[in-house]
Amino acid sequence: MTDAPRADSPGDPATGTADAVTADLTSPELRDAIERTREDVASLHAELVRYGLVVWTGGNVSGRVPGADLFVIKPSGVMYDQLRADNMILCTLDGQVVEGTPGSERSPSSDTAAHAYVYRNMTEVGGVVHTHSPYAVAWAAFGEPIPCVTTAMADEFGGDIPIGPFAIIGDDSIGRGIVETLSGHRSRAVLMKNHGPFTIGRDARDAVKAAVMVEDVARSVHYSRQLGTPAPIEPAAIDSLFNRYQNVYGQEPTGSLT
Ligand SMILES: [Zn+2]
Repeated sequence: MTDAPRADSPGDPATGTADAVTADLTSPELRDAIERTREDVASLHAELVRYGLVVWTGGNVSGRVPGADLFVIKPSGVMYDQLRADNMILCTLDGQVVEGTPGSERSPSSDTAAHAYVYRNMTEVGGVVHTHSPYAVAWAAFGEPIPCVTTAMADEFGGDIPIGPFAIIGDDSIGRGIVETLSGHRSRAVLMKNHGPFTIGRDARDAVKAAVMVEDVARSVHYSRQLGTPAPIEPAAIDSLFNRYQNVYGQEPTGSLT
């Protein structure tokens, strides 16, 4: 964490401008935090390619800059093998590019407004990912939640993966749909109807993991449905699996923002 002054207030997109943030970038702690976030976000895009979640320039990862009301996101329309820390784009939480910073000459991802809305309204979220991974998109087009019928799904998502509302790209409606669906929900993934998965996490890496896992469970449950009706898991068993995995397995519980 850094003591850098905050440029704007979460939940109040009307305050704070790109100019106000630029003035704060002299803080060495903030500069380091931004650089680390740029490196993380740039390198994590390779995971989307590695796991077959994206085609061409589709998909995007963003990460909140720890200790500041800023986030870093991929530029729009740049091929994956050309993404680097210095062409990631620094944005304020109202989705505005911080002018004069590396990468700011390009447009940010077309989903920037949705990412910004999530960061403004879910303060515990440190990373957001969007892909059009095929099995998850198939469920999104089908319009039905992915039922929690495997232990891996109970571990990772703690229940069904919900469907979010149909929303048009270009304003806050996707962000609103993500926040309304995932607030108070165990799942870190939502399938926006007729569109595809958006995932959140305590940091960008955690959100990328959720994007990988949602595609994996979407595929598995799809296969199971070809065999018939998947057998349900008792809710108490889902609770037990989720709690064990989140609190015992691994190093840190999901959802806690440092
Ligand atoms: Zn999309």
